[in-house]
Amino acid sequence: MLENINEKCAVVGIFGHKEASKLAYFSLHSLQHRGQEAAGISSSDGKKLYTIKDRGLVSQVFNQDKLTTLQGESAIGHTRYSTAGDDSILDAQPVFARYDLGEMAIVHNGNLTNAKEVRDELIKKGAIFQTFMDTENLIHLIAKSDKDKLLDRIIDAIKKIEGAYSLVFLSRTKMFAARDRFGFRPLSLGRLQNGGYVVASETCAFDLIGAEFIREVKPGELLVFEKNKAPQSFKIFDATPKKCIFEYVYFARPDSIVFGQSVYETRKNMGRELAKIAPVEADMVVPVPDGGVPAAIGYSHESGIPYEMGIMRNHYVGRTFIEPTQEMRDLKVKMKLSPMVELIKGKRLVVVDDSIVRGTTSRRIVRMLKEAGAKEVHMRISSPPTTDPCFYGVDTPDKEKLIAANMSINEICEYIEADSLAYLSEEALLRSVNATDESYCTACFTGKYIV
Ligand code: AMP
Repeated sequence: MLENINEKCAVVGIFGHKEASKLAYFSLHSLQHRGQEAAGISSSDGKKLYTIKDRGLVSQVFNQDKLTTLQGESAIGHTRYSTAGDDSILDAQPVFARYDLGEMAIVHNGNLTNAKEVRDELIKKGAIFQTFMDTENLIHLIAKSDKDKLLDRIIDAIKKIEGAYSLVFLSRTKMFAARDRFGFRPLSLGRLQNGGYVVASETCAFDLIGAEFIREVKPGELLVFEKNKAPQSFKIFDATPKKCIFEYVYFARPDSIVFGQSVYETRKNMGRELAKIAPVEADMVVPVPDGGVPAAIGYSHESGIPYEMGIMRNHYVGRTFIEPTQEMRDLKVKMKLSPMVELIKGKRLVVVDDSIVRGTTSRRIVRMLKEAGAKEVHMRISSPPTTDPCFYGVDTPDKEKLIAANMSINEICEYIEADSLAYLSEEALLRSVNATDESYCTACFTGKYIV
């Protein structure tokens, strides 16, 4: 079976800057939260492409010497966050290939829903694959297209794939950026201080390298970057936006503008809405760091209950979610979060987190806070119950492992041993993101899939 490997990742592209690979490297640093498993950059000096990629964090994969070998004025980069067990270096991106028009490299954030069909078809016709990544399909589709120009071949290839993608392609002389017609995954366009261009999954990358946000790449749009020209825009599909609401709930960094809105303010709105829907008498509002922080601030503002850092986070332990076995996940939660014993002893706490997936984190946190002497622990979740898996690039487990798909809210409350538990409603979530139409994908909370 084809595995879904191009999960929530980050992509970046730099065009028209002497230090392109260094700017890509800095951008990847600010996008590290979107994937910690592997990182890579390809650059072009106009004649040849250079690629370095490996397992590990951006800071582990690159150093000064390596960046110096990534020559040229254009570069694309990727950080990868995949499902458990896929640890081959082959699955790191960019995916690089030589073909009849020369060389190309591709980075991809998202998940192609027809990847298996496309791959089976290609294999039937003799194609050979090195990885499980659906991104490799694109390489073959481009190489096999009968069009003469790369631009036309990319359009050809894009028309054959379905699902979620924010893609950046690099050839020796050009860069291309594309977003699927639904715009599931974010992708923004910015201008570098020297007049060059940048595309990145989140605008926090622009802030770091001093780039100016121009606009989002539109759903269904393909942008072409060529030397001494403004980016050219091609409409490949009519846009039918279904932006991933989970980017606001959990995934994006709070200092980013995603889908045209501040992630931080949106999360604060969620906290405010939560306080209105699910008030409780308590002594302090405590966030589960870092994900729950903005919503906890919103809850505190709305309820008037003081905000306190009742849980400390150890920043040198990676995300707990990525460990494959339950035992490892339990251990990692303990390593990562510890209670502020003196602060919370004898107190009634409202604990705010962004989501409950399997229930491991919440259960462990409630127990930890109670053991530390908290009198009451009221869990408040700033999104609706996560009941359905994501096929568009967010790494949610199968339905049988999603606690809210298998238990009622009361049962979950009992399981996590909280004094009370409440979630945000779907309506309140949509209000929080200022949704005025049906342009958000809420499938992980509603099971309403589009593709
Ligand atoms: P769990 O322990 O399985 O219930 O996971 C819930 C915790 O994981 C919450 O603290 C969330 O902030 C975090 N989380 C939710 N979704 C994801 C995801 N797709 N990847 C990584 N972490 C997540």
